Amino acid sequence: MATILVIEDETVLCEALCYNLERAGFTAVAVHDGIAGLEQARQLQPALIILDVMLPGLDGFSICRTLTRERIVPIILLTALHDEAHRIAGLELGAVDYVVKPFSMAELLARVRAILRWNERQRQAQPGGVLHAGDLRLDRVSRQVWLGEQEIELSFKEFDLLACLMDNSGVALSRDLLLERVWGSTFPGSNRTIDVHIRWLREKLETDPANPTMIHTVRGVGYRFQKPLERLAPRFIGTLP
Ligand code: CA
Repeated sequence: MATILVIEDETVLCEALCYNLERAGFTAVAVHDGIAGLEQARQLQPALIILDVMLPGLDGFSICRTLTRERIVPIILLTALHDEAHRIAGLELGAVDYVVKPFSMAELLARVRAILRWNERQRQAQPGGVLHAGDLRLDRVSRQVWLGEQEIELSFKEFDLLACLMDNSGVALSRDLLLERVWGSTFPGSNRTIDVHIRWLREKLETDPANPTMIHTVRGVGYRFQKPLERLAPRFIGTLP
């Protein structure tokens, strides 16, 4: 069964989390400070990390930033900070989901399952292969992206969003559909989540992010990825086959 690393310094909450994860059939490993948490994340290679933001030693945002750079694992951030700026900061650092304390254990477990199911579906549906679009290459197996010879560092969800767009090259995809395909149906995010991630992708991939040539805005719908040489008329779909 999947191993889940819980990095949380509130011992009562940490024990409750681990107890419920084990009851749900997962293997739970608990760590109470940031430095040991980062170390365990690297050694253990868990399927998912539940990460508190306020931690002794090293804070959750720093751990998230480091792990995302190393492309190891999906992260759910736990925090008492509930304003949008912090939520966006967490997602910007590569967290997959964001849960505000106090939270319902059942809801957290549902999100854990949804993320793991989604990852498994992605793994099974995509046994390998490299997507190409002009100078841009995306390798699903190694989760690496190159622009020409230069490797581009993407967060976990930036990578998934780009893969989804490139998979449907030439197709206008609605924000709702992108949210469901990339974040899963249980993610309580808004269209703003999509817009923010698109902005970050353009800043990393486009020569002039204000005049994108690959990731186009489709007014009133969402976004369309266009390969550099494609001149096909776009078509809109609401659901993917
Ligand atoms: Ca804490």
